[in-house]
Amino acid sequence: MAEDKLDRAELRVLVVEDEPLQRWMLGEQLRQLGVARVSEAADGDEALRLFQTECFELVLTDLNMPGMDGVGFLRLLAGSGRQCPVAITSAMGEDLLRLVEEALAESGSRLLAALPKPVETAQLELLLDQAAAFRAPPPSPAGARPAVNPAEIYAALAEKAFEPYFQPKIDVGSGRTLAVEALARWPHPVRGWVSPAEFIPVLEQDDGIVDLTLLLLEKICAALRRIERQGFPLKAAINLSRSLFRKGDMVERISDIVAASGLAPERFILEITETAVDNDPGNMLASLARLKMKGFRLSIDDFGTGYSSMLALVRVPFDELKVDRSFVTGATRNPRSRIVLEATIQLAARLGQTTVAEGVETAEEMELLKAVGCHEVQGYLYSPALAEDRLVAWLQARSVSPGEAGWPVPGVPAAGKG
Ligand code: C2E
Ligand code: CA
Ligand code: CA
Repeated sequence: MAEDKLDRAELRVLVVEDEPLQRWMLGEQLRQLGVARVSEAADGDEALRLFQTECFELVLTDLNMPGMDGVGFLRLLAGSGRQCPVAITSAMGEDLLRLVEEALAESGSRLLAALPKPVETAQLELLLDQAAAFRAPPPSPAGARPAVNPAEIYAALAEKAFEPYFQPKIDVGSGRTLAVEALARWPHPVRGWVSPAEFIPVLEQDDGIVDLTLLLLEKICAALRRIERQGFPLKAAINLSRSLFRKGDMVERISDIVAASGLAPERFILEITETAVDNDPGNMLASLARLKMKGFRLSIDDFGTGYSSMLALVRVPFDELKVDRSFVTGATRNPRSRIVLEATIQLAARLGQTTVAEGVETAEEMELLKAVGCHEVQGYLYSPALAEDRLVAWLQARSVSPGEAGWPVPGVPAAGKG
């Protein structure tokens, strides 16, 4: 508490507002919250002039001002390379505020909040705490790890060190887990579990990605057989990079491994990102068609994030559509996001596709997805990706009867649902 006060007392805050009374009132609110150094400007030009001689740790700016308006000011500020946290205060409607928020995020502004006027004291307090947090020293060197060395990644691949982890995919209607998504994990001797974001792009630069994918596929098949013996005949989703298909024989190599395991291809959902479908060298579409003929199921991953989502839907007969996490997160806050989410799910339904929402973290998101008719969900609300033994324990803890991985959906009353 005392520390908060101290931080606030030291914060240098700039209020940009053309209305003198509103400017004064906002300054007063800040001073009452313990901010000792409040400066004021009547428009963007004056604010930029102040920045030439002073440093600020928080800018609160109106949007609609004569002279240079708030958007122009913030874009110039971001363009000047100043990393000053900002908040906008405005009497505009929600939709317009969101649009401005996105535009500013794109220009590199460090936008903390868009606050409707008059600004509530509680919101202002929260904002001051956020701005004070930005003043904290940067994370210790332990947090900022150097990039992994490619030679180390290839050595780990030669040792078959990579492991599949499994994230449950939950059927919304029944609450049961019928499938998992396999995600690559690297147990690094020093750094702990290294994220795929660090090694997949390195391996995608050449054939390393082929070796990784096939290694994981073998391990996934073996795991599925073991998990099945314990009463859970799961399907598995696996991620396929576009760069895999530079090699002509991927279809054979994938189907040979699956055939050798004795598992039916129908148990596998192949996830391909829409950017991977775009800009096809020819080979990948043909490979997808052949994989589908062999019985594998096809899924379009991260749907909605690329520029060619619709084209991909037209070109490839996907069985499943995975709505990107950003739509899920946005939908509970932004009515327009919700409309896009709902329309996407309806479109997929008309194409006969199963819809899956990823990155579900709250019961509120789950309720909304249920309401718009999404078929399956995955996310931290249920479970992160787990090692095989932990997955089995998780499935057992939730099964209502042997051979069935079901349990009540959080936040959804169990009674009265068929
Ligand atoms: P993705 O396919 O979109 O996988 C979902 C990512 O979101 C995973 O990150 C997962 O752990 C994370 N996630 C799951 N639930 C939640 C949630 O509720 N909230 C949040 N914030 N995140 C959640 P991960 O495992 O780090 O994988 C990142 C990406 O790496 C994957 O994105 C996928 O594109 C790629 N990847 C992972 N494994 C493989 C692989 O074996 N082969 C290829 N080609 N790519 C892979
Ligand atoms: Ca995926
Ligand atoms: Ca995804």
